[in-house]
Amino acid sequence: MTSNQNSFHIQTFGCQMNERDSETLAGMLSEMGYVATTDKKAASVAIINTCSVRENADLRFFGTLGQLKKIKEVRPDFVVCICGCMMQQQHIIDTVKSKYPWVDLIFGTHNIHAFPGLLQNVRDERIKQVAILENGGEIVEGLPAKREHKHKAFVNIMYGCDNFCTYCIVPFTRGRERSRKPEEILKEVRNLVADGVKEITLLGQNVNSYHGIADPVPSQTTDDDTNREVDFADLIHLLDEVEGLERIRFMTSHPKDLSEKLIEAYSSCGKLHPYIHLPVQSGSDRILARMNRKYTAKYYLDLVNRLKATVPNLCITTDIIVGFPGETEEDFEETLNLCHQVQFDSAFTFIYSIRKGTPAENYGDQVPEEVKHARFNRLVEVINHYAAEKNHACVGRVVSVLVDGSSKTDETMLTGRTEEFKLVDFPDGGQKAGDIVNVEITQGKTFSLRGIESR
Ligand code: SAM
Ligand code: SF4
Repeated sequence: MTSNQNSFHIQTFGCQMNERDSETLAGMLSEMGYVATTDKKAASVAIINTCSVRENADLRFFGTLGQLKKIKEVRPDFVVCICGCMMQQQHIIDTVKSKYPWVDLIFGTHNIHAFPGLLQNVRDERIKQVAILENGGEIVEGLPAKREHKHKAFVNIMYGCDNFCTYCIVPFTRGRERSRKPEEILKEVRNLVADGVKEITLLGQNVNSYHGIADPVPSQTTDDDTNREVDFADLIHLLDEVEGLERIRFMTSHPKDLSEKLIEAYSSCGKLHPYIHLPVQSGSDRILARMNRKYTAKYYLDLVNRLKATVPNLCITTDIIVGFPGETEEDFEETLNLCHQVQFDSAFTFIYSIRKGTPAENYGDQVPEEVKHARFNRLVEVINHYAAEKNHACVGRVVSVLVDGSSKTDETMLTGRTEEFKLVDFPDGGQKAGDIVNVEITQGKTFSLRGIESR
């Protein structure tokens, strides 16, 4: 087994935040002279960027780590690095140190910027490194990135979360909420557009609580002007002005903080298209309160109705957890009932899993596994029913599709997204990733649409 002296392989688990962090790590490695490889057996450096949101992510991580040991046994100079949310948990670090002592570098979500120096130390000194900061400090701007796509990009607007939903590990692994300055976000987006990016997805655990402090305008500096606050809707308006940018998306929105001003932005900002991901988690007020979500099912339904009334053809997706501790059959039926009322275009559905260190870990009334699985299957059936119905209703419409590239399942087809973020496959007519093509929808399936180019 031989390796390219300066090549790297990154395996990313979890959400878009992790994908974006991996792009930063790849950018740093490229600046250090490393090249990416898809073959981890041939890499000189392997990184696993971990997720800790659900239990199965932990299990997959330890499985992957076991595979890397085999490479290390043949090539002792193979450098194994692990980072991401799991590394912000002391019990995980203790397990790695005791059971996987051949891991070379462990770093957390708050010190990604220190990665080049840490890696260099490992390679020069052959000393293992563990670098974890408990809390995120100042946001480090200007880190390089090797982006996965040329035509679309994730842009972090904030880090961390202050909401402490009782099931969720994120506030413990990503720290308190910190918003980037609007000027830094605008600078990044303008640079991306200059490089050919047409669509940006603004990232934050709860973008609705974005709270940026703008620099004073030099010519008008007065005491009043020194702390100009920019909220999320203001930020959308600023980005809508960026010439050459075509589409603005965002993830994720907490319903409790979604403002009327943001709903209005859908009407006044042409680049904000009719799509929203709005996690509801449960349809039962009792469970929502226990989850510390700070809204009721009625509040959520009213919000959805206001959004639907303002935004024609709005596509709504959500996250739902089944089997949260104490969830009764009645609670679960209230969730199904809410799904019948909203008729989501699609949903990420999750079986509740205990996360060490969260309040819900200590709730005594955990739901038995078989009950959770049975409810999960019933929920998926309802979600898929409306997803298929919504997609069937698109047949005959001509939609604008931003092309992502060849379809993964059929090389004669291209794949892309509509303005409503629906996945569309259509015959390859020579269009390239980043092109915007009008497509007439001919078929609506549960998870995607099919169509033909409309000239
Ligand atoms: N910040 C986002 C929000 O509040 O909507 C979501 C972040 S979390 C990474 C993504 C989703 O994972 C959550 O919306 C929730 O549905 C799910 N999730 C989080 N913790 C979970 C747990 N312990 N068990 C099952 N699902 C969980
Ligand atoms: Fe987790 Fe709730 Fe924060 Fe989302 S809002 S990251 S679910 S604590």
